[in-house]
This record gives sequence, structure tokens and C-alpha cells, in this order.
Amino acid sequence: MRRRIVAGNWKMNGSRALVQQLLPPVSSELASLDNGVGVVVIPPALYVASVLEKAGAGLEVGVQNIACQDAGAFTGEISASMASDTGCRYALVGHSERRQLFGETDDQIAAKVSQAVSHGLTAILCVGETLAQREAGAAEHVVAGQVQAGLAKVAAGQWQNIVVAYEPVWAIGTGKTATAGDAQAMHAAIRQELKKLGAPADELSLLYGGSVKADNAAALFAQPDIDGGLIGGASLKADEFLSICRAMP
Ligand code: 13P
Repeated sequence: MRRRIVAGNWKMNGSRALVQQLLPPVSSELASLDNGVGVVVIPPALYVASVLEKAGAGLEVGVQNIACQDAGAFTGEISASMASDTGCRYALVGHSERRQLFGETDDQIAAKVSQAVSHGLTAILCVGETLAQREAGAAEHVVAGQVQAGLAKVAAGQWQNIVVAYEPVWAIGTGKTATAGDAQAMHAAIRQELKKLGAPADELSLLYGGSVKADNAAALFAQPDIDGGLIGGASLKADEFLSICRAMP
């Protein structure tokens, strides 16, 4: 079954004070959401434990990145098994900031996806084109390549633990959102690509990310192939994040 998900990626933002301030209202309001949306908070790894402590039933937690390796001498890294062990259910993999600012390669991303699903986490594979790629008419080609490469190591029984988030790079943190029509077209193309890979594509959740706000979420979530959102800046404000959660039909 396709899960409808709103996930908040805090990126490198937040503090103990933010956890204290944001989690109680978000957790208590979740009970009143009757639209079946799954809400996920993805804080910096240091705050996972305190978010989990404050998270009521129904709120799930994820990490923003995991290592390619299982365990060992990899100073500074966090493994998928540790994320799982501490209560996380999700891991973002291949966010464009990781690709662009930290040089993550397709091979590393495929290894991380494999680590995540092997340890029972749901991997949220992030894909998306740059403005130059879109202007060159290459957006679908680029995104299809990222989907193929990122999911190259997923085994037949692991697809239920895969979510793909389409985040056009030019829409992240810029206030520019893809139109609902353009986002839908790309999501439909991603679903076709998943079919080619042998995935049960109609059952997998596809999220849109990139300047999702309370006032544009409903139009995006109304699209047939958009199953939810990956929210950056707007996930740091309880009211706005909750309004986005409520925008799910
Ligand atoms: P913004 O919602 O701040 O544009 O960020 C989107 C994003 O990158 C979520 O992963």
C-alpha cells in the first residue's frame, strides 16, 4: 500500500530548545489528523534521541545520512544499524546537498540505500535536476539516471522499504516551487523508471520537496503521483509544518 508521508528535514538546524518547543505541539496535533498521513521528523543525528523521547505515538524519526559501511574504523560516520538501533525508521540518502557539497557519488548512494534497507530502515532516495539541466531539457534524463543508479543494489524483497523524493535543486530553499503539473509529470516519469527496475512502482511512495509551504502543499499533494512531501525550512515551525500535514487530502 502506498504510504502518504510528510517528512521534515531539519538539515543542520535545531537545538535542544527547538526540540522542546516543536515536538509537543506537533505530537499532540497528530492525533487529530484524520487524513492517514505518516509524519516523520528528520533532525540532526545528535537530536534523534531527544526527538524520539518527545515524539508521541504516530510520529516517526529518521536520520539525514548514513555511512556506506556496516561498522568499523570510519571516524565521524553513523551506520544504518545504529540509526535502526536507536529507533529511527527512515534514512535520507543522496540529498542534493550531500551530492553537491560533500561530493557523494552514485556508487556511494547505492551503497547507502543498500545499507538502509538491509537494516530495516526505509531509504528516502533524493533525486532532482539543477536549473541548468532543466533549461537544457535534460531534467527527466538526469532524474531517471539518479533513480537507476541509486536503486541499483535493491533486492527483490526490499522495495517496500524504498521511498523516492523528487527535489529539483533549483527549488530547494529558494522559494521557487515546481508547478503542481511539472512535479506530477516528473513523479509519473519516476514511477515509470521504477517499473523498468522491476519495482512494484504503484505501491511505492513518491514525495515532492523544494520550497513546500502551507500555501502550496495542497495543490502538490492533490496530484495522483505525489504521495507527500519532504519539507526543509517549513518543518522548523510547528504551525507551518502542521498546516502542511493537514494539506494532505
Ligand atoms: P526547503 O523546503 O527549505 O526548500 O528544503 C527542501 C529540502 O531540501 C528538503 O530535503
